[in-house]
Amino acid sequence: MRDLLVAGNWKMNGSRASVAALVRGLLDAGPMPCQTLVCPPNVFLHQVQTQLQGYDIALGAQNVDWHEAGAFTGEVAANMLLEFGCSHVLVGHSERRSLFSETNEQVGLKVDKCLASGLVPVICVGESLAQRQAGATIAIVEAQLKAVLDKVGIQALGRSIIAYEPVWAIGTGESATPDQAETVHVQIREYLAKQELKIAENIQILYGGSVNGENAASLFAQENIDGALVGGASLQVGEFLRICRAAA
Ligand code: PEP
Repeated sequence: MRDLLVAGNWKMNGSRASVAALVRGLLDAGPMPCQTLVCPPNVFLHQVQTQLQGYDIALGAQNVDWHEAGAFTGEVAANMLLEFGCSHVLVGHSERRSLFSETNEQVGLKVDKCLASGLVPVICVGESLAQRQAGATIAIVEAQLKAVLDKVGIQALGRSIIAYEPVWAIGTGESATPDQAETVHVQIREYLAKQELKIAENIQILYGGSVNGENAASLFAQENIDGALVGGASLQVGEFLRICRAAA
């Protein structure tokens, strides 16, 4: 039986005041009804780490560099994230892939660094609309996963979380239907099962793409959807809590 995880990707949003209010709102609601993770912008990590002390919400970053340290202006290392209380990192988000030209191979390097450092990578995969229309969804997703598998191997991948995020559903208000998402989640498990059945069965696969308080329950009712990676709706306390309650 896999636990459900609801993760909030706050992207490049917020101020000191709005972030404090968002965290306060979540904490004031009482114990979280499911595994919960929030991923603020790096500059707010310390503030959120401090606020979350003693509570059951995990802290994550939105990106990480794969080098140990050095002349990589603007980047953040895994050890720095650990020092600021992060347990998780989003890796290979479609915005990183499309806007910052992150390649499948770089995603593999980042996952490898996370796992070696003790951070849990949330590996984001997903196809564009054109790729879906061309019938290439699973080929694209498999290629994204293969690059990670080639780098870290199936045993290490088993210590990761996968987020299936169709690019056409991110930030558009148009979620994949529960059936569409479930189909790809099953295909991901089948792909991983060729390497190691137990890992395929146990790995958490989140769905991401316009999840909100309205559609969360029907997505979570699918056997192979183990929670959500939430963008826009994670910035609203009430909406995020509705999604978490749907996962309870
Ligand atoms: C995301 O950024 O990972 C995401 C799923 O965004 P949204 O929920 O806004 O579609």
